[in-house]
Amino acid sequence: MSNHMFDAIRDAADPGTTFIETLDGRVWTYGDMLAFSGRLAATLEKLSVEPGDRVAVQVEKSPEALMLYLACLRAGAVYLPLNTGYTTAELDYFIGDAAPRLIVSTPAAADGIRAIAAKHGARVETLDDKGGGTLLQRARGEGAHFGDAPRGPDDLAAILYTSGTTGRSKGAMLTHDNLLSNALTLRDYWRFTETDRLIHALPIFHTHGLFVASNVILLSGASMHFLPKFDADEVLRLMPKATALMGVPTFYVRLLQHAGLNREAASGMRLFVSGSAPLLAETHKRFRERTGHAILERYGMTETNMNTSNPYDGERVAGTVGFPLPGVSLRITDPETGSPLGTEETGMIEVKGPNVFKGYWRMPEKTEAEFRPDGYFITGDLGKIDADGYVHIVGRGKDLVISGGYNIYPKEVETEIDLLTGVVESAVIGVPHPDFGEGVTAIVVRKPEAGIDENTVLGGLKDRLARYKQPKRVIFVDDLPRNTMGKMQKNVLRETYKSLYG
Ligand code: ATP
Ligand code: MG
Repeated sequence: MSNHMFDAIRDAADPGTTFIETLDGRVWTYGDMLAFSGRLAATLEKLSVEPGDRVAVQVEKSPEALMLYLACLRAGAVYLPLNTGYTTAELDYFIGDAAPRLIVSTPAAADGIRAIAAKHGARVETLDDKGGGTLLQRARGEGAHFGDAPRGPDDLAAILYTSGTTGRSKGAMLTHDNLLSNALTLRDYWRFTETDRLIHALPIFHTHGLFVASNVILLSGASMHFLPKFDADEVLRLMPKATALMGVPTFYVRLLQHAGLNREAASGMRLFVSGSAPLLAETHKRFRERTGHAILERYGMTETNMNTSNPYDGERVAGTVGFPLPGVSLRITDPETGSPLGTEETGMIEVKGPNVFKGYWRMPEKTEAEFRPDGYFITGDLGKIDADGYVHIVGRGKDLVISGGYNIYPKEVETEIDLLTGVVESAVIGVPHPDFGEGVTAIVVRKPEAGIDENTVLGGLKDRLARYKQPKRVIFVDDLPRNTMGKMQKNVLRETYKSLYG
């Protein structure tokens, strides 16, 4: 039997070609990748990791850490990356929930993690971002030729925890074919070939940097410049040597703040992709003016891999996430009844396809509740499909404000506020209100020199929005809370202002 995902990676791998180049000049060829992941897979086997066992990994980004993901595929283990920002208390939840056989941590965190691991019967090994740690010491003694564990399309390849933007993170069970089918689709849709060189500046514990970026490169036999984290100076320095960048919207905002971003700097690049959070139409427009490139925005989630993408050749429309990818079915339904809605009608986004996960780890009721009987997954995102077929994301179902019995889509109010002079950006949330159930509340970042106050904003919205959509209060802040992937944390804002009307 074959190993569904790794066989495809092996087929695309030309041993002499560069796979990864690091900032400090280390180079990994595809031959190195095959040998190193083989040694690590043999090490996992020695450590009694069996097919189906979870391997939890909380380490800094490095080529070795990516090799560990590949080793898990080859050993038939279930790769379970954890955000490096998680605290010990959070780790206790994830480790208890996932029950891994092995935990790989940084040497610095190992002592704290050992206490948790002992409680849950897991073993701990270490890996640092300089090529050290106990796991690699063990791997040195192993041979490079590893007989991959047989794994079929439906076997689990990974459990990825969702970002926890709307509540507690859930473990999404992803199969070999979820990963392979989506990576092949994206490779072809975005025209990746072995001549591509991607600037990889995303974390590798999240679906964007791990699966979208790394799997697409692996299946194209292409190469990547591996950055420990995003740094506008480094990205601009690498651009002349690269062909593509995948980023979250914050990358593009920061690049626009850099004086070095211009047509010449980006002239060798063929593709800029954005996702994980909404890209402002304004950012798209300004990037195009500065570089001549239309950023290609796409939409996905931990549970589904990527669902939609703006076209490679056709028009990339700012403020939209493009069309359903080949093989992905997408529909908009009435959030209450589940019945399908028509063009331009806003409702729940539901998707179905080989990209959609198998369910939430150890949460059968939650899994059952999020799937329709005909197999569609209820994403929790609200959106619409326009007359040209482009999908628009309007926001998250959980962020919908219900005030005085009316539904208010925050994005509509935010768009109007953002148009006012002196406003940088805004977040509209619902806060408990004694008369209205929820009060529409605007949290606004203003330009330092802008002489605007609550009354200016309210006055500016008066003739633009129906009365029930107008904020009851406007609050000014220096920054809006965002997580590492650039996602706005409205749950944090709701918590902060929960007593505003009470
Ligand atoms: P949780 O499910 O734990 O609350 P999360 O949904 O933020 O966290 P992820 O799976 O990392 O965790 O993120 C998926 C979500 O990111 C999508 O459901 C969608 O809301 C948002 N998203 C991704 N791409 C885009 C995009 N291009 N535009 C707008 N939103 C996007
Ligand atoms: Mg989610």
